[in-house]
Amino acid sequence: MYIVSSCLAGINCRYDGKSNENKFVIELVKQGKALPVCPEVLGGLPIPRTCCEIIADKNGNKSVIGKDGRDYTTEYELGAEKTFEIAKIVGAKKAILKSKSPSCGCGLIYDGTFSGRLIEGNGLTAELLIRNGIDVYTENNCNNL
Ligand code: SF4
Repeated sequence: MYIVSSCLAGINCRYDGKSNENKFVIELVKQGKALPVCPEVLGGLPIPRTCCEIIADKNGNKSVIGKDGRDYTTEYELGAEKTFEIAKIVGAKKAILKSKSPSCGCGLIYDGTFSGRLIEGNGLTAELLIRNGIDVYTENNCNNL
């Protein structure tokens, strides 16, 4: 069983109320091989919601800050924990998560300046899954799974 980002499965759960429909992911879900999860909604955030990015201080401590200046780290951490709980329940060893997201992004994320610039890093959910031995892919490198 795969954990997949709900927005890739065509669910309108993005911060702007839209989705990132991906045919490969939708087919996995239809075949019963993938479970769609949205960490930010699991963390208690609404749809639509404030756009957020990860900011790291000089000690490497990460916060998730909204465009409104509010600190949303607690909600993002809760969403990551809930997603990992679900992954454990269904025995998921792999996940396909939406690239660049402060929750789901894997390898590259926005740099915290809301300017569209990317830096190396993972979203909070991707990071937690990887640390616990789950292989995380994005919509950009999942086609050979
Ligand atoms: Fe998609 Fe993940 Fe953002 Fe939810 S948290 S909208 S699943 S990228």
